[in-house]
Amino acid sequence: MNIVLLGSPGSGKSFVGGKLENEYGLMHISTGNLLRKNDTLLKAHNIDLSNGDLVSDELVFTLLKEHIKNNPANGYILDGIPRTIEQAIDLEKFFDVDTVLFLNVTDNTVISRLMNRYVCKDCGKLKPADEPAEIKVCNLCGGELVKRTDDNYDIIKHRIEVFKNHNEPLKQYYTVQHKLNTVNANLKPDTVYKKVQKIIGAVKSNDNKNRKGRPVHEVCR
Ligand code: AMP
Repeated sequence: MNIVLLGSPGSGKSFVGGKLENEYGLMHISTGNLLRKNDTLLKAHNIDLSNGDLVSDELVFTLLKEHIKNNPANGYILDGIPRTIEQAIDLEKFFDVDTVLFLNVTDNTVISRLMNRYVCKDCGKLKPADEPAEIKVCNLCGGELVKRTDDNYDIIKHRIEVFKNHNEPLKQYYTVQHKLNTVNANLKPDTVYKKVQKIIGAVKSNDNKNRKGRPVHEVCR
């Protein structure tokens, strides 16, 4: 099964992607992480990820295809792609999307989460929100926990705008395909994940019965 995670920065795609990876044996791929790990490539293309603008489709797809080729899996969870309708169309040329989870959050939630988040410099994993402030190392690999350079107020506002400019057409695109499930992701991480589990459970059982599932739509206030 291949899952696409849609949602603004700070909507919890990374948390949900990691949980789904563990529970369902799928591979979680974050295009942001792929880019951040590729310092040489970023320098060669003169790309600065800290400004919050999207990089070229060509670069992202090259990295994504290479990663999938080198890491065969039963299925993938895509986090951070597609960002635009053009990317959704290009993705379909080599990737079957089974279901789409849209993690719906308010701007205030995004700003407060991103202003307070830390990530591992080495593996890119997020510091769990409930971990005490004095913990400065990653609980997965022991790497140093740092702030992302694009997690500052002005850039966060810009990233939210970039997201909003593209997300409505993307939602439409997947609604027409009966694949879009909307989850209220303002709630506590574990509550959000319980909702996600229900949706994925329904998608899997509908898959087994070989018929289309009925997508879920939650209003986010
Ligand atoms: P993220 O970790 O998803 O917040 O992405 C961090 C940055 O990587 C974004 O602000 C973009 O500059 C770039 N990026 C990640 N995924 C994509 C994508 N699918 N298309 C274009 N740029 C991307």
